[in-house]
Amino acid sequence: MSSYGKGTRHHFRGLAVFAIVLVLVIVIVFVWMQSRQSAPVPEDAIYLYFVDVGQADASFILTDEGSVLIDAGTSDSAPTLYHTINTGGDTLSYLIITHPHDDHMGGALYILDKMDVQNIILPMDTAKTAVYKKFLGAVEAEGAEVFYADADFSFVLDEITFTFLAPLSDIGDTNENSSVIRMDYGGFSALFTGDAEKKSEKLQLEAYGNFPYGKLDVDVLKVGHHGSSSSSTAAYLKAVTPEYAVISCGAGNSYGHPTKAVLDRLEEADAEVWRTDLSGTIVFTIAGETVTVAGG
Ligand SMILES: [Zn+2]
Repeated sequence: MSSYGKGTRHHFRGLAVFAIVLVLVIVIVFVWMQSRQSAPVPEDAIYLYFVDVGQADASFILTDEGSVLIDAGTSDSAPTLYHTINTGGDTLSYLIITHPHDDHMGGALYILDKMDVQNIILPMDTAKTAVYKKFLGAVEAEGAEVFYADADFSFVLDEITFTFLAPLSDIGDTNENSSVIRMDYGGFSALFTGDAEKKSEKLQLEAYGNFPYGKLDVDVLKVGHHGSSSSSTAAYLKAVTPEYAVISCGAGNSYGHPTKAVLDRLEEADAEVWRTDLSGTIVFTIAGETVTVAGG
């Protein structure tokens, strides 16, 4: 055998080894991607996340059939948010923005870039900021169904009903005009209030009743405006009667959120308080009648 032949054989063996390694790598990557994409949610349960996005808001609902993101945090926290919410795959059934402030929609551009978003529900209020204009451009490019939400909008995902309770009228303030969304899943309910404050709360009480067991009565309250004292009035909490109150705020934030006044009112209302600045991302698991909560 000539040295030329040996060289070819070695060369061939090298190629074969390379091909086997390549196939193995492809198989491993494929299996890894499949495992990331398969929904980790059991058929009879849902997960409700309050993602730690610092001094901002992002709530995420994951079922075995789809997912809903209510607010998307800031642009700075977007990679963290994406890392948390793409465990269910890169498709997002619904993106809801409660109002056009950076701490609620700043991360949405990143999410629109990374994920296939099927439906987008925009607030009635708009903003002239460069970030919001850029966001609206990205919404148009996404090719999703786009809705504008006011107080009579609702939709159903899997067995969960989402009902918009506010804004009931134009209060003339972007925070106060936040979309307020009620979620119902079996006997479980939650209320996402964006940055709505006492004027919106008063209108809701007038429209839905200022008593427990009404339309405002839920198990989990995403506390309005990061625990600012201008939200979560005693009258509102009396109607909402939250078993759990979740405050989304950044550790050591310059606004002093959550305020002592709101923490006192929540204690008075007998709510179990969870805070993203203390617990990180907070996850509720709802399985039948059982609700469990854990901090990250
Ligand atoms: Zn905010």
